[in-house]
Amino acid sequence: MNKYVCTTCGIQYPGSQEEPERCPICEEERQYVNPDGQSFTTLDEMIRSGVYQNTILQEEPGLYSITTTPKFGIGQTAYLITNGRYNVLWDCVTYLDEKTIRTIEELGGIDAIAVSHPHYYSAQLEWAERFNAPLYLHRDDRNWVMEQSEGIQFWDGEELTLKEGISLHRLGGHFKGGAVLHWSQGGILLTGDIIQVVADTDWVSFMYSYPNLIPLPAGKVKEMAEKVEPLSFHKLYNAFHRVIAKDADQAVQRSAARYIMALEGKLFST
Ligand SMILES: [Zn+2]
Ligand SMILES: [Zn+2]
Repeated sequence: MNKYVCTTCGIQYPGSQEEPERCPICEEERQYVNPDGQSFTTLDEMIRSGVYQNTILQEEPGLYSITTTPKFGIGQTAYLITNGRYNVLWDCVTYLDEKTIRTIEELGGIDAIAVSHPHYYSAQLEWAERFNAPLYLHRDDRNWVMEQSEGIQFWDGEELTLKEGISLHRLGGHFKGGAVLHWSQGGILLTGDIIQVVADTDWVSFMYSYPNLIPLPAGKVKEMAEKVEPLSFHKLYNAFHRVIAKDADQAVQRSAARYIMALEGKLFST
């Protein structure tokens, strides 16, 4: 039995003799099937190839980024918050080897894993089992979970406090259960793809589909900005190592207002 991994989105499937025939995550309009066709690998095969490694970098006190090189799947960055004696892995990557495990254990291990949305489910159960950590996913996205487990703690509603000062907030938008993580001591918001930092890193954007450029309705973006408004943060990290380094709370509000003006035809005349 192999746990096959989709090479385009990096999601891991339950153990099977044969490769899955398709990847529902990639076949949906928020992702895409590789034009060269669907292909699968396994984590063991990735490790044996010797091609991949995870780079773990300290971004600031108590915050580390985890990125696989060369790029695999969507190419996202996961983050490890080391908050006193409670470490949280935010989002996840597929690749996990002994060197990564050792480095993370030296940083105190992982006490909880939370994932923003299904594009980063990757090998989340592999990580949850290896570090013996509960995996928090929003229940609204449960149909995108390709492998069920008792280790998954589905959460409901708009907010979940993991530990004092570390909370998850459902903003929806990109996915119905799409969530961000607020770390109040750090003054940081970790957003995955739910709020996207754009090329001009004073601004963010919000999309239903990033690869296929499908926007969100103005009303939804307004609602997302309103949900973020009460949270106190000055920095914002997306899933691609892009950071709004200061006044990120204002950047979100300013960007939502610009986005809504664009959708309503009030931003420009072309
Ligand atoms: Zn896929
Ligand atoms: Zn996404």
